[in-house]
Amino acid sequence: MMELKIQLIPTGEIILSPGKNGENHCHNCKVVASDGVRAMMESALTARDRVGVQDFVLLENYTSEAAFIENLRKRFKENLIYTYIGSVLVSVNPYKDLEIYTKNHMERYRGVNFYEVSPHIYAVADNSYRSMRTEGKDQCILISGESGAGKTEASKKILQYYAVTCPASEQVQTVKDRLLQSNPVLEAFGNAKTLRNDNSSRFGKYMDIQFDFKGAPVGGHIINYLLEKSRVVHQNHGERNFHIFYQLIEGGEEDLLRHLGLERNPQQYQYLIKGNCPKVSSINDRSDWKVVRKALTVIGFSENEVEELLNIIASVLHLGNVQYGGEDSNACITSDIQIKYLPRVTLVLSVFACLHLSLTFLSLCVFHHQLMSPLNLEQASSARDALAKAVYGRTFTWLVNKINASINMSPCFVLSVSFVACVSFEQFCINYCNEKLQQLFIELTLKSEQDEYEAEGITWEPVQYFNNKIICDLVEEKFKGIISILDEECLRPGDASDLTFLEKLEDTVGGHAHFVTHKLADAKTRKVMGRDEFRLLHYAGEVNYNVNGFLDKNNDLLFRNLKEVMCMSENKILTQCFNREELSDKKRPDTAATQFKASLAKLMEILMSKEPSYVRCIKPNDSKQSGRFDEVLIRHQVKYLGLMENLRVRRAGFAYRRRYEVFLQRYKSLCPGTWPNWDGKLSDGVSTLVKHLGYKPEEYKMGRSKIFIRFPKTLFATEDALET
Ligand code: ATP
Ligand code: MG
Repeated sequence: MMELKIQLIPTGEIILSPGKNGENHCHNCKVVASDGVRAMMESALTARDRVGVQDFVLLENYTSEAAFIENLRKRFKENLIYTYIGSVLVSVNPYKDLEIYTKNHMERYRGVNFYEVSPHIYAVADNSYRSMRTEGKDQCILISGESGAGKTEASKKILQYYAVTCPASEQVQTVKDRLLQSNPVLEAFGNAKTLRNDNSSRFGKYMDIQFDFKGAPVGGHIINYLLEKSRVVHQNHGERNFHIFYQLIEGGEEDLLRHLGLERNPQQYQYLIKGNCPKVSSINDRSDWKVVRKALTVIGFSENEVEELLNIIASVLHLGNVQYGGEDSNACITSDIQIKYLPRVTLVLSVFACLHLSLTFLSLCVFHHQLMSPLNLEQASSARDALAKAVYGRTFTWLVNKINASINMSPCFVLSVSFVACVSFEQFCINYCNEKLQQLFIELTLKSEQDEYEAEGITWEPVQYFNNKIICDLVEEKFKGIISILDEECLRPGDASDLTFLEKLEDTVGGHAHFVTHKLADAKTRKVMGRDEFRLLHYAGEVNYNVNGFLDKNNDLLFRNLKEVMCMSENKILTQCFNREELSDKKRPDTAATQFKASLAKLMEILMSKEPSYVRCIKPNDSKQSGRFDEVLIRHQVKYLGLMENLRVRRAGFAYRRRYEVFLQRYKSLCPGTWPNWDGKLSDGVSTLVKHLGYKPEEYKMGRSKIFIRFPKTLFATEDALET
């Protein structure tokens, strides 16, 4: 009698897995269930009803969005936050700690076939790791989802999985520690509390983990994209500046604060009070400070470097408190404030020359003559803010480089984990990035899926999907894309402004099906659009962009004399961030959008060269609550993550495929006709084999070089038979 083993794992997940004790099995026997087994199976089926299916391809009604959402809901209720669509992992943020990330869980996923255990982020991590080792191909894991959906947490889980399960020598241990410790540091400087997420990443991150030929992690490399620098000087109501400021103020030792001239009260600092939200219940700035401080040491920052780094952080706060007053339209730094704060800036930055002058005057070089032109109040404030943003932004990049230097090795294989954050001009860039990633997703999974069936000569219903290339082109095309038009306006001397940029857009892309402005809109849309906005119809939905600040942010200008002053600093980090070469460079630096476009293109190229796995994160509600499943919100995400489309393709086609030789090699022992060797054509051998196994015609198709199996359960049954 064949035994069907039903394994209940602690989360309540039910897995049908091959019975391993293998008594009395024969090749073509059917399952003969004893009463006991039948009872177990029945209870398993009821349970399956309760917990839904663990792979959406097993859904009866796979084209129904309602069935899809219902399956997610069932699982979410049972704390089963992971579900597959084939090899894509869908994850719903539980907003509570689940007991599914223990060492035992890690062990359970190690080296086990993707489909034999319940869906888990560890399965994706393990699968990528094994593919890398067996096929020798670089892998990448792409994690996407909206703010608060769980991307950062997922990436941390993956990293922890490798840290625990991969082989390690002593030298490797150091790298592992540094890799792990880079997280709290990057989060302190690059994450902030927003309305949507108490720990929102305000930069995009791409991370390589490098392995040697033994499969041990020997290094890493991080690329950061587009930090939301505007947050340094301004925060919306209910939001905060980057965590590090509060950590330092709340957690910094007395001596340290005294040395930095800081008071232990965030409300004292202009750059920290805009959001009116100094404390967050889910965050303990004081204990986080300890973690970050220790992490800096583990990564290999010297005491000196830490001191200089903190000087910079403090100087940004002091700079924010510098205020201007003055007669006429010229700025001068208000006398009492000047006494109180500017010297602190100069002191902690170790710049003793002309900062005062540079913050109130613009120096111009006209025909080799240096001219000083006084700034008006508004110009002076924005010069101050530009300096704060530049100092912080460049220090962040310095920090990433420094971490890279401490974890960089020469690898054999590379496994990358990447997620992209959601930020505001920044929002435009990030939405453009998501659009590109979606295009990649389409190209690499949906399209390649179809292409494979075509190549294998298998007929099937073509699946309609929306190719968003048209929107990517609208943003990035040379000369007539939005970025080109923005750059053109930035370079144009004279009366260029955010509004002339908008007019140019109307003239150039006004006719595009995915672009609307107030002037071009129909009466209904006009009601919900400002005159200074344009709307893009992204694949994910419509977004209105206000053009205010687009030119400034794209230019990202910092007056030359402020750069010069920074170059003169005795703070070594600053002199690495602002170097003189930049001053002598006559060429205008690339605009922010163009730089971003170039780095995205590079990212796409990297990703294209690797084998991708996908984790699609879903946020269950807007109130960060556990157990609340907001159907409207979730449906929206299912739509814009393209999950239904993805499922349709997986099901319209076949869930699994195996090359004939691989399939035959693995299963030939199950059929007297193919055992021990098959001499004829491979496809004939496979045909003989599957007929013997009793595959029904609707369960599989024979391609040119592969067999395609429609349902996972067919493959499971065959695997079962092997165990016998
Ligand atoms: P952003 O784009 O804003 O950076 P994100 O997608 O990175 O958002 P996370 O910071 O990963 O979102 O998750 C937000 C919060 O949700 C976490 O701080 C944590 O409280 C909770 N969370 C996410 N994933 C999990 C999980 N697997 N288990 C428990 N809690 C989680
Ligand atoms: Mg994040």
